Amino acid sequence: MSAALVSRVEDFSKSLDMAVDGVWSAPGRVNLIGEHTDYNEGFVLPFGIEQRTVVAMGRRDDRIIRVHSKQSDTAVEVSLNELSSDALSGWSAYPLGVAWALGEAGFDLSGVSGLDVVIDSDVPLGAGLSSSAAIECAVAVGLRDVWGFSTTDQELARICQRAENIAVGAPTGIMDQSVSLMAKDGHALFLDCRSLEIDAIPFDLQSDGLAIVVMDTQVKHSHANGGYSARRASCEKAVEALGVDALRDATIEQLEAKRGEMDDETYRRARHVITENDRVLNTVSVLKADGPRAIGDLLVASHVSMRDDFEISCPELNLAVDTALSAGAVGARMTGGGFGGAAIALVESAHAENLIARVEAAFADAGYYAPVCFSVIASEGAKRESL
Ligand code: ADP
Ligand code: MG
Repeated sequence: MSAALVSRVEDFSKSLDMAVDGVWSAPGRVNLIGEHTDYNEGFVLPFGIEQRTVVAMGRRDDRIIRVHSKQSDTAVEVSLNELSSDALSGWSAYPLGVAWALGEAGFDLSGVSGLDVVIDSDVPLGAGLSSSAAIECAVAVGLRDVWGFSTTDQELARICQRAENIAVGAPTGIMDQSVSLMAKDGHALFLDCRSLEIDAIPFDLQSDGLAIVVMDTQVKHSHANGGYSARRASCEKAVEALGVDALRDATIEQLEAKRGEMDDETYRRARHVITENDRVLNTVSVLKADGPRAIGDLLVASHVSMRDDFEISCPELNLAVDTALSAGAVGARMTGGGFGGAAIALVESAHAENLIARVEAAFADAGYYAPVCFSVIASEGAKRESL
């Protein structure tokens, strides 16, 4: 899959008469479990997917950095001498924001060359599979190589997160960038969002005869506004009421003890985060002890918590999950920030096609847009592809 994208991006570079010094790629991701826990300094368990964003870079002999994407009609250029987070907008704030954030993190950009950057991707945009982290991380590993900086992946994840938080203006956590940079083939990545410690957990679905089906509802979400910020604000309110550093540090017993001192909405928001952290830890133990077929109930409990306590699901996501379960899925849940985007179903490979047909039929019956459904496997993180 990525070989085809690499040759597409090379053709794209040729059509622009651009010299190519290297090609890099980074995957989108599916979060298996652990939603809205990352910015609460908790636990997540995502995996990289085969769908990737590919970036070719060629040095220029001036200080201009120029970005093109197959997914956008607008090419954007800016002088490295005038790189500022305020001046960036639209899609180019993702790649140019990474360059800006490198400078911000203390890397000396005063002597580096300008670049032509071309981008192509088969990660669906805005579907909750983190095309945003894929573009940031592919650009980040490319810039690290062409500009000759040395950073750890953990540091690079923080730099990409800053690009998204400040240059783009989307208040996201550290999960997406961490998994896009550090994912491992056939593994899910347990990530402690406080220490950034990671542990690769075997998640080789194919050898277990299982598949994860992504059901992209085609309902567009926007991280940058509304619901996401409101959920973060609720979590902060709960942190204050509980007197802890982060919801990561709170137990369900502490929450119950303070229930009378907070409004019901804040209580339910906190209950989601606290129980979701427990579910991530349980999922890791169950995966290690019994394998992926045993995690179905945890996935379903996570969905119910997001639907009823955190209230970030929507009718399309609920229909996808309910239909998948009635079609025999081992487990299913919405994934990603919510308010649209995708749900996932864990299913016997032999039943995946039937499940997809059932979900498509249910959406047609309900008068919803046709969902886009496909299987994913756990794939490797950002890497250099060629030259
Ligand atoms: P998600 O990360 O779930 O795909 P986001 O809203 O966080 O959704 O990020 C999607 C945005 O990222 C797009 O609207 C676009 O601005 C930018 N983006 C991601 N990938 C690309 C790409 N290949 N080319 C241009 N812009 C991209
Ligand atoms: Mg995103």
